[in-house]
Amino acid sequence: MSRIFNFSSGPAMLPAEVLSRAGDEMLDWHGAGMGVMEMSHRGREFTGIAAEAERDLRELLAVPAHYKVLFLQGGATLQFAQVPMNLLRGKASADYVITGEWSKKAAKEARAYCDVHVAASSEERKFTYAPRNWQLRGDAAYVHYCSNETIGGVEFHWTPDTGPVPLVSDASSHLLSRALDVPRYGLIYAGAQKNLGPAGLTVVIVREDLIGAAARGTPTVMDYKLQAESDSMLNTPATYAIYVAGLVFKWLRQLGGVAEMERRNVHKAQLLYAALDAGFYRNPVAREDRSRMNVPFSLPDERLDAPFLKGAEERGMVQLKGHRSVGGMRASIYNAMPLEGVQRLVVYLKEFAAQHG
Ligand SMILES: *Cc1c(COP(=O)(O)O)cnc(C)c1O
Repeated sequence: MSRIFNFSSGPAMLPAEVLSRAGDEMLDWHGAGMGVMEMSHRGREFTGIAAEAERDLRELLAVPAHYKVLFLQGGATLQFAQVPMNLLRGKASADYVITGEWSKKAAKEARAYCDVHVAASSEERKFTYAPRNWQLRGDAAYVHYCSNETIGGVEFHWTPDTGPVPLVSDASSHLLSRALDVPRYGLIYAGAQKNLGPAGLTVVIVREDLIGAAARGTPTVMDYKLQAESDSMLNTPATYAIYVAGLVFKWLRQLGGVAEMERRNVHKAQLLYAALDAGFYRNPVAREDRSRMNVPFSLPDERLDAPFLKGAEERGMVQLKGHRSVGGMRASIYNAMPLEGVQRLVVYLKEFAAQHG
């Protein structure tokens, strides 16, 4: 068996150890005589698996007891609507910070539910930095931002201070890649397929006092409070995705938790950016706001894109093509991307630049 290095932005690589264990347990999970996919979500085995996944996630991020952890469906995109439906709590407006395609989409969706005020935007510089000055309104129900813009490769390396107004983060593409100060947030959400596990699962971490006042007409499965009360099992959850994410949480805990993961991610990102900064390539993002997870870059001439991608594929590296809205290349180097994958890419970047520079 040979594994290639997959630089996709998501669904993305999963740790080989996790896939291998899931494979071992595919037909018979711990002597149950059946696989996890076949289990009743209300049975003893699966409720144990889900509870353990929640415990491990809480432990990894030191989630305080007054926060609920929910395992939902619908992707991060559904959260663009679910957040206003639940967190407006009778208020008429919310503040949004726009730093790229994802936060822009979130704000657009929210306009169906409330008056959206753009508190800061980096659009005038093509989403290449994280704005520091936010014009917040005291009467906003919450402030929403995207702490790592997957497409543009802009990451907030600091936690915004929104005073008493709850801070909401779309952390889809960097949750568990670094330490995170959960008590500074009202709500954090993430689609699993970037850094946590398989597609189909969305993790929501929400402060308990913010839920329980969903807007009229909110579908039952979209009401955070009702989901929290039923341990995210109001209806059938994404059982297999929860199980695999649980294995990823265990893998992370074993290698030393998010602190150790962050150390590794800093190292990988430094290697890659150093190679890009050596000339020939270009990354458009302000240095202090560069993402450790998603690294967009361009070659000096678009006509080199196809030969670059072809050469990468021949060397066992795939999915390096940039998002259609940005063009160029993008290397997503999530937790599961081994150091060797980044090293191989760096060697190739130098080789290609020497050949074509
Ligand atoms: C991928 C992504 C989304 C969309 O996720 P879906 O699960 O496809 O809905 C939203 N926000 C960010 C930051 C993402 O990276």
